[in-house]
Amino acid sequence: MGKKVIVIGAGVAGLAAAIRLQHDGYQVEIYEKESLPGGKMNRIETGGYKFDLGPTIVMMPELYREIFELCGRNPDDYIPMERLDPMYRVYYSDIPEEPFDISSDLVELAKTIERISEEDMEGFFLYLNEIYKRFMVAKNSIIQRPFRKSRDFYNVAMLKKALKLKTLDTADHFMSKYIKNERLKQMISFQTLYIGISPFKSPSFYTMIPMLQFLYGVWFIKGGMYTMAQSMEKLFKELGGTILYNKSVQEICIQNRKATGIIVDGQNVSADFVVCNADFPYAMKNLVKDHTAKGKYTDKKIDKMKYSCSCFLLYLGMNRKYEEIEHVHHFIFNEDLRKNLHDIFAGNKLTNASFYVYIASKMDASLTPDGKDGLYILMPVSNLATAKYPWNEETIREYRSYILNTLKKIRGFEHIDQEIVTETCITPLDFESKFNAYNGATFGLMPVLAQSNHMRPQSKAKDCEQLYFTGSSTHPGAGVPIVLLSARITAQELIHDDQGIVYDYSGK
Ligand SMILES: Cc1cc2nc3c(=O)[nH]c(=O)nc-3n(C[C@H](O)[C@H](O)[C@H](O)COP(=O)(O)OP(=O)(O)OC[C@H]3O[C@@H](n4cnc5c(N)ncnc54)[C@H](O)[C@@H]3O)c2cc1C
Repeated sequence: MGKKVIVIGAGVAGLAAAIRLQHDGYQVEIYEKESLPGGKMNRIETGGYKFDLGPTIVMMPELYREIFELCGRNPDDYIPMERLDPMYRVYYSDIPEEPFDISSDLVELAKTIERISEEDMEGFFLYLNEIYKRFMVAKNSIIQRPFRKSRDFYNVAMLKKALKLKTLDTADHFMSKYIKNERLKQMISFQTLYIGISPFKSPSFYTMIPMLQFLYGVWFIKGGMYTMAQSMEKLFKELGGTILYNKSVQEICIQNRKATGIIVDGQNVSADFVVCNADFPYAMKNLVKDHTAKGKYTDKKIDKMKYSCSCFLLYLGMNRKYEEIEHVHHFIFNEDLRKNLHDIFAGNKLTNASFYVYIASKMDASLTPDGKDGLYILMPVSNLATAKYPWNEETIREYRSYILNTLKKIRGFEHIDQEIVTETCITPLDFESKFNAYNGATFGLMPVLAQSNHMRPQSKAKDCEQLYFTGSSTHPGAGVPIVLLSARITAQELIHDDQGIVYDYSGK
């Protein structure tokens, strides 16, 4: 029998790392505090309506497929996907009657961009050209590899590549060089919010996120995102792995700077290796109790680090289908997006917020009762460390009515408040209590430059053997495809230490 690996957490990264290691011959046991797989890729079910809890937008589908292909499976049997076109619809709240459909077909996209601002068309292609070059550098040399030693980064070849990323520029400043029209610029640069950082603070290379959509598309998995979580759980079990739910791990056992297992339900469970998918800052503070093993990540340092924003979500079961609304993904921008972004990261109560609406039932009618739609509404908000206001009934009521009143101005949603039959909401407090997201920061550590790449927590614990981390707060960062890469790096790091296999990260 192979050596035993305990994985703490069945989030995307935990499941993917567990599958890789089980496939490689290890005997893997996952301990998950919740009762379902997926972590933030969870599902909420109420009155016959099924909602994805967190992630909804599928980008870089090849990374989703990779985990199934690795194990000799046909991904289409597990996560059948369809490309969305248009990818999403954008509404500006001052002109709700004039939405823009964003296609990944360049011919259609060109028409839309010309409609918004013809003079910015050339700049748009220059932006794509520039960011594509940087993406290729990041893809081949940075985001698919670990930085376990400082010389992995501080060497001439790597520094030359890092310089090509031109990381000192912010996303907003970078976009301003190419695009003058404020609406168009916002439509592209706001997407740094997908990883929880403002475009005014984000290193410019994260403007590669919209580029990935424009060039490689946005996809929908039948059944919604949760199908990915269920299918990874299924694959893991088919490979012989064990998954235990409702098991909140209390401690990672460490002896003589080596992880030896975990404590769960007051019992010691031993293992040869521990892989922790619980959010890195939470885990370092609460699960790693051995001070030497914490290394530089003392409790004080964890509190000083910068955290991504959080989200307020409404999941509404509606009494009808919205034929007037054709698409799956919708962004509703407030005309004062700049103030909105400032308020999110300054901790102010939001007055003119932008938000996102996802209607998965447009693609898969089995997610709702016959003839009905379900609306998932996400509003980026401050994390719990930053918010200068409490998350109480009043805040929820205010944000809910702001969202519904804004939506009422959109054709089709005029009577939305009278059409709700089921209603659930999630606040930053839930992200903290349900998934142990530190400060309720839904995307983990904020990807400012000082917390990116080699400066982000790495997979292999620096000061403890046989202990590894995976997930959003570790390198390369947040977002489903990116944490799938984190899981790949983690599995490779463990296999490297255990079996001496050397992976080629030269990016040739
Ligand atoms: C609202 C929202 C929308 C998003 N939208 C998108 C999107 O459209 N596209 C996209 O690509 N990404 C999106 N993301 C980001 C993406 O969902 C995350 O980056 C990714 O799912 C994180 O996976 P993870 O494995 O790192 O962490 P998690 O999902 O947080 O998994 C960690 C797991 O560890 C468990 N755990 C914690 N502590 C313990 C303990 N002590 N014992 C046992 N188990 C424990 C937790 O319960 C959880 O299951 C979104 C996220 C959110 C919240």
